[in-house]
This record gives sequence, structure tokens and C-alpha cells, in this order.
Amino acid sequence: MDQIRIPVGDTDALIDPFGRHVIYLRVSVTDRCDFRCVYCMSEDMTFLPKKDILTLEELDRVCTAFVSRGVRKLRLTGGEPLVRRNIMALVESLSRHLKAGTLDELTITTNGSQLSRFAGELYRHGVRRLNVSLDTRDTAKFKHITRWGDLAKVDDGIKAAQDAGLAVKINMVALKGVNELEIPEMLEWCHAQSMDLTLIETMPMGDIDGDRTDQYLPLSVVRANLLDRFTLEDIPYKTGGPARYVEVKETGGRLGFITPMTHNFCESCNRVRLTCTGTLYMCLGQDDAADLRAPLRASESDAPLLAAIDEAISRKPKGHDFIIDRRRNKPGVARHMSVTGG
Ligand code: SAM
Repeated sequence: MDQIRIPVGDTDALIDPFGRHVIYLRVSVTDRCDFRCVYCMSEDMTFLPKKDILTLEELDRVCTAFVSRGVRKLRLTGGEPLVRRNIMALVESLSRHLKAGTLDELTITTNGSQLSRFAGELYRHGVRRLNVSLDTRDTAKFKHITRWGDLAKVDDGIKAAQDAGLAVKINMVALKGVNELEIPEMLEWCHAQSMDLTLIETMPMGDIDGDRTDQYLPLSVVRANLLDRFTLEDIPYKTGGPARYVEVKETGGRLGFITPMTHNFCESCNRVRLTCTGTLYMCLGQDDAADLRAPLRASESDAPLLAAIDEAISRKPKGHDFIIDRRRNKPGVARHMSVTGG
């Protein structure tokens, strides 16, 4: 699917103060993860108590409310979405919106560790594409970055997904001095397996054990270096997300750039993010948020929930202002990426 449909002239549509249609909801279904990526979490994370977390039925209700207001794309993320107990029940239940034609895409972002188990079911429930986060092809480095991960298991998961008929896109966070020299190799590997590759700039979110200025690698530099080896042609391909794509002439594959730091894409932002506790973040890079759990739990009617969603959208900010700066020793936003799921 190349384009997400934007509801035009739909009075129920979610339109923010800057005229942007919100048609994409990303849902972090759990804050837990079976990896501890060095740029994402500290090794010793405190996770949320169960009572604070929305049940699968509650998550379904919120997603359905958004779909009723014109959201056309849902992405489940985390934490690691596939470690949430019984997550396939949510995927199955949400797939009714695909069947009804009220949703264009139900998709997932995963670290791939559990894909061997779930790929077939995801496909059966209407998922057609997914993103796998993978920062290196080197087994030892993979262990170092993820702390707890096993590359062979992720490779098996990717293969299972492709065998099940799912299109896989690899997301790679570009990390200075860690995987920057591997980017050409990753690109060739992905394209040889018919997978798109998207590179992501590291964002200053949450306290981690190291210093982010050591890891930050601007993609403008990566792109310039790639030009020594590859011919990159800008293409209008869009997936509803923030990546800008090029076609790599030598491989015939697509390469995306997500550049929140060097070139933000806020003017075309069409998304909001729900955490597993029902907090709605209207911008990944701002702390302002709306609590949807209270109105959700307050009434069996969706009216209070829908009112809270409208109120939240009316507060969607124009953009974020992430800075990675040695003089500012604090993260740009306090929460970790695992709260809002990237
Ligand atoms: N566990 C799933 C996964 O690994 O894809 C979903 C959640 S994970 C937080 C989503 C994405 O955010 C991953 O691609 C991860 O590499 C990325 N990520 C985490 N922290 C980040 C940061 N500070 N800056 C940029 N990307 C980050």
C-alpha cells in the first residue's frame, strides 16, 4: 500500500489546530521488552504494575474509537508487542476493522524475537507488513547493543515472517562508532532479501546508562557517505510514516531516512501515540499528554472517551524540539522510547 487515504470533508475527522489530519495511531501495548537496547533502556528498568495497564479489551475500545474518528492505520508497538500475553487476541479483534474497510492497515513494530511463533497468525489476522528493528548483522555486536538478544532467533523470525507472506522492513538506528560502518552491508543484505531498510536518527528520550552525544550520528552524514558507493534517487514512496525514501540504483531496493534531528517532519505529522496505560501523546518529542484511561473506565459509553480524544487533538503541538547537546545533560523528553514505542 503506497498511500493512506485521508478523509476529506469528513466532519468526524480528527483535525489538529494546524490543519493536519490525524489518521495514524501507534499503540504501545506493553512497556516490557525481552531486549535492553543500550540506546533505548537502561539495563535495570522498573516496569509498570499490571493494574495501571489497559486490558486487551480496553486497548481495543480505544483503537476502535480512533477508527470511528477516521484513523486509517494502527501500529502495535511497545516495549515488545509480541511479549504481551495473548496479544494475538487483540490483533484478531482489531482485524474486524480491516474486513469492514474502515481501516487500511494494521501493522506492528517488533524486535523479531517472537516472530517465529506469531508470523502465521499475524498474516491470518490481516497484517501484511511489519517492521523489524535490527541494528547490526554482527552476532557479538547484536548482543552488545540489545544486551539480551540473540541474532539467530531474530533471523529465524524474519524468515518465518517472509515465509508467511509478510513484507518485512528493517529499521536500523544509526549509531556513531557502533554500526555506522555496517550501513552499506546492511543495505545490501536487506535488498538481497527483498526488504526495505529504514535508517533512524537516535533521539534523546529517557535516561540511559551512557552518553547520547557519543551515539548520535546525523543521517545527512550517512547519506553523503553512501553516495561514494551507491546512486540514491529520491522517490515519492510513502508508507504513512515519517520516512523519506530513495531508490538505490545498484540494488534496486528502497532505503528510508527518518531524520527527527537533522530535518524534522512535523509539518506532515499525521499521528498520535497511545501508551499501554492509556496516556495519549500528541507528539513523540513533547511531554504534553492526555489521559484516556479515566474517561474510558468512567463509562460504558464511548462519549467521554471521544470527547477526551477531541480535546487532546486540539492540543497537538506544531512540532518537537529535540536537541542532542553536550551542554544539556538531560534527555529531550524524560520518558523512554519503550513508553511510546517509537
Ligand atoms: N520492541 C519493538 C522493536 O524493537 O521494534 C518496538 C519498540 S522499540 C522502542 C521501537 C523502535 O524504537 C526500535 O526500532 C528502536 O530501535 C527505536 N528506538 C528506541 N529508542 C530510540 C531512540 N532513543 N532513538 C531512536 N530510536 C529509538
